Amino acid sequence: MLTKPKGTYDILPNEARIWAKLETVIRKVCNLANYEEIRTPIFEAYETFHRNEDDSSDMVTKETYDFLDRGDRKMTLRPEGTAGCVRAFIENKLYVLNKVTKLFYLGPMFRYERPQKGRYRQFMQFGLEAYGPKSPLLDVDIISTAVMLLKALGFMKVRVRINTLGDKESRNNYRNVLVDYFSKNIDLLCSDCKQRLEKNPLRILDCKIDKENVILKNAPKISDYLNDDSKTHFNKVLEELDKINIKYVVDPHLVRGLDYYSDTVFEIEYESDVLGNQNVLCAGGRYNDLVKDLGGPDIPGVGLAFGMDRLLLALANENINIIKPKMLHAYLITLGNDCSDYGLKLIYDLRLAGITCDMSYTKASLKAQFKEADNNNSLFTLILGEDELNKQTINVKNNQTKEQVTLNISELKGYLIKNLTQNSCHNCGGNCHEKSTN
Ligand code: ATP
Ligand code: MG
Repeated sequence: MLTKPKGTYDILPNEARIWAKLETVIRKVCNLANYEEIRTPIFEAYETFHRNEDDSSDMVTKETYDFLDRGDRKMTLRPEGTAGCVRAFIENKLYVLNKVTKLFYLGPMFRYERPQKGRYRQFMQFGLEAYGPKSPLLDVDIISTAVMLLKALGFMKVRVRINTLGDKESRNNYRNVLVDYFSKNIDLLCSDCKQRLEKNPLRILDCKIDKENVILKNAPKISDYLNDDSKTHFNKVLEELDKINIKYVVDPHLVRGLDYYSDTVFEIEYESDVLGNQNVLCAGGRYNDLVKDLGGPDIPGVGLAFGMDRLLLALANENINIIKPKMLHAYLITLGNDCSDYGLKLIYDLRLAGITCDMSYTKASLKAQFKEADNNNSLFTLILGEDELNKQTINVKNNQTKEQVTLNISELKGYLIKNLTQNSCHNCGGNCHEKSTN
């Protein structure tokens, strides 16, 4: 039997409805905050992600799916959304249109990781990107939009952790102090951290293995090495978050796994251990030089990415249900070939009028067809037998009131529309027909 690749999953119809709803809420929130959608390719040139030798992030060094295409071009399945967005921003000269460009994306990302709950090889991210002047207000725009999404989902059991990595000058000062500090304790760190010491000592602070090590806990803090510009930027971000009443914790050891960040960095965690090391739902920060480093103009950026899989796991764990039960307005049961042939045309006409409906294609017994109607959670069951067909009538059963009426077929559409609008349709409260085509 063929099976799905390791670290991937199938989204079955019941779950697909949850995903679709999550995407709808995301689009609504992005619209409120004026982030516009961008869709970029799922694979990009290898160099889009592997930019320089010094990159020390696990994602770039160990986790990318790289391949040669049939024309011997080196390609990479995107492991994250920012680099592709920045590439598209530059290539399409989006910076010419506006001083600030606010984008969102949503789609699958690929990383060769050890699969576990909340960690997959193909997973879904939703991300925000804002390119424009280095304003702390844009950092807050991004963070507050993330918080708004969580609110819209009815989910607030989260902790916003925030820190600054400072500008280049501050980071270099801090880097030197850290190298000095960790060199003295190098034997007490894991083998990955030993390598990080050379390439990017800040990343040691982000180590999942040494997380509880006192050497990490007692490490110098960046706040003591920030220059005035960096301090002012960060303080303004915190001040504005306070003003709009977004709670946060300043975590001086928060650094991000990707090497391109500067100034503000943040994470939003699910306040529960059920996801283990996978409890970070959203992560982001500012990247002042990325657009320039990818060959574009000197325009700073700030962004975030939500792991949508983790978000859904956390919602499920909190028993937050974002969808209503599946239902159909009507389900047609037929008896005999003539009736099912006629029925097909009938339900097509109903669908054109905006009535969600289906019919049994099974030639099964009446009882079995009633069961199918039940499985589809239909509000009305329509029953068409030879007798009814000859008389051009149809039996209509209201599954909520259990009432049954016999109507002329010509009256059916009007009857359903009237009843769906007047009575509570449990999906829409009676508005299903606003967009009716007839
Ligand atoms: P982690 O530390 O958990 O590996 P990360 O720092 O590599 O996360 P980012 O690159 O910042 O993650 O991606 C943003 C978000 O995407 C993460 O906070 C997480 O919610 C989600 N994410 C990252 N990798 C995976 C994965 N392999 N499977 C599912 N979700 C993921
Ligand atoms: Mg990772």
